[in-house]
Amino acid sequence: MKKIGVLALQGAVSEHIERLESLGNVNPCIVKYREDLEGLDGLIIPGGESTAIGLLLKNYGLTQPIRDKIQDGLAVWGTCAGMILLAKELSGGEPPHLQVMDICVRRNAYGRQLESFTTTVNLPEVSPSPIPLVFIRAPYVERAGADVEILLKVDGNIVACRQGRLLATSFHPELTTDNSFHAYFVNKVCP
Ligand code: GLN
Repeated sequence: MKKIGVLALQGAVSEHIERLESLGNVNPCIVKYREDLEGLDGLIIPGGESTAIGLLLKNYGLTQPIRDKIQDGLAVWGTCAGMILLAKELSGGEPPHLQVMDICVRRNAYGRQLESFTTTVNLPEVSPSPIPLVFIRAPYVERAGADVEILLKVDGNIVACRQGRLLATSFHPELTTDNSFHAYFVNKVCP
């Protein structure tokens, strides 16, 4: 059974744990301290508030240990705020956080008029059935490096992409009852 951690500093933690539990073939656990990173096959950085999670990563001494684990092959999936935390660059000159994925991300990219919305997409690489997507004050990827595979665009904007064992999505699969992205991460992104 793969051991998948969910970074539990702030944000939608229990929702990710629930999705992972419902997959049935995964051992989910929460990650708060450096020791919790040991023995993981994958780590999910949930949605929430990226500035708060970024600050807590520093305070808990987790920033460099997570970078080191990624270097050693840990698979990481960032949802929404998690995408922001993975980015090498944030638009508007905001300070980046983990800086591990070759993407430039715009926070709150949909502006005030469209703070939250849902849509459904077909993405055969991830699921044979239509996948519901929930966006909440979502970011999107403005620029992606040559090594980044674009998995999905919505309205012309990149909302899901992958660079090796790093996966980033603008939306929140943990806030739906659809397991496709969790299964994709566990089965196809994690080693
Ligand atoms: N707008 C949030 C941020 O900038 C992200 C929102 C979310 O994770 N739902 O961190």
